[in-house]
Amino acid sequence: MEASGRLERTYAMIKPDAVGAGNAERIMQQIEVNGFTIVQQAKLQLTREMAEEFYAEHAGKPFFEGLVTFMSSGPVVALVLAKVNAIREWRTLAGPTNSNRAREEAPESVRALYGTDGQRNAVHGSDSPSSAQREIRFFFPNLVLDPVPDSASATEYIQK
Ligand code: UDP
Repeated sequence: MEASGRLERTYAMIKPDAVGAGNAERIMQQIEVNGFTIVQQAKLQLTREMAEEFYAEHAGKPFFEGLVTFMSSGPVVALVLAKVNAIREWRTLAGPTNSNRAREEAPESVRALYGTDGQRNAVHGSDSPSSAQREIRFFFPNLVLDPVPDSASATEYIQK
């Protein structure tokens, strides 16, 4: 089957609620079953400062302090994923931001299956090519990435 679109990398993160509940392996299996290649993987705990910087675009919003506290409350799993249209595809597989809405609108999504509410929603996904690049660099600063080829059938190119 010819996949149409562009091979992309995106940044995914399994948040402290899902790691703490023991769901990280199941979520990574769901990611791979859906055709993504996990290119990089690291388990780490964010400091408050890292969480503030990562979510800087939300600074000042009513949910910001709670989000930073939650995101630095336990280990996360940081992932670089590759797939054709990876950015959009991973946002779709993750599901709507609020896990309760996800259970109504996308019951097979990761947030529907493993999230709790509008904050504790199991996973993160980059929302654009520029945020994917920024977020991959944030977590994997030493990763040297070759340019993604234009070819749509470049699956062999992805190195594990
Ligand atoms: N969030 C929250 N309350 C809100 C909106 C968002 O706690 O009302 C949290 C939630 O964990 C979400 C993160 O802040 O995943 C970033 O919000 P964004 O709107 O960027 O949603 P996402 O891109 O993660 O779906």
